Amino acid sequence: MNPMQVLHQLVVGNQRHAQGAHYHPHQGTQRRAGLVAGQRPWAAVLGCSDSRVPPEIVFDQGLGDLFVVRTAGHVCDATVTASLGYAVHHLGVSLVVVLGHSRCGAVNAAIAHRPDEPDDCLCVAIRPAIEKARLCTGDLCDQTVRLHVQGMVEYLRCALPGLGKGGAAVVGAVYDLASGRVEFLDPGVLLPSTVTRG
Ligand SMILES: [Zn+2]
Repeated sequence: MNPMQVLHQLVVGNQRHAQGAHYHPHQGTQRRAGLVAGQRPWAAVLGCSDSRVPPEIVFDQGLGDLFVVRTAGHVCDATVTASLGYAVHHLGVSLVVVLGHSRCGAVNAAIAHRPDEPDDCLCVAIRPAIEKARLCTGDLCDQTVRLHVQGMVEYLRCALPGLGKGGAAVVGAVYDLASGRVEFLDPGVLLPSTVTRG
């Protein structure tokens, strides 16, 4: 599947999740047995560790479908980048989704962090988005989540070597805890004119 087809599968699966109409695909013993010899996931997700946002459920997918990396506040470091690079370059994943969400505890903790408190790596990673969000109108947490997602997308587009050559792409998304819906922030980047299929 090319990135646009992957995006479509994720959108359709998320619609089922939002409506409470899950298929729970690929979760039986037959699927499990079929994956013993190897995996061929078709999407990678960098998401938040928050227990309310498990990508397999949010996108209604099953075993062997999604390659998932989760950290608090979907903060990306060298280990995360290398893991996603493995998914793209060795497993053939064509789309990496950076998935933020509403009311993110890691983002709120970074916003509440006081200058006299010791820094931690999550705060340091989220702070540039907070500083940009303070210049925007609207809810500070919501704005920070979106800007932090975009920041991680831009980081990965640079940090994952040879991304465009193999036809793989990175896109940002935000999950709303209340509605269950995922909003893709910049799906236009996946249009055929901007993605080279290798
Ligand atoms: Zn979170």
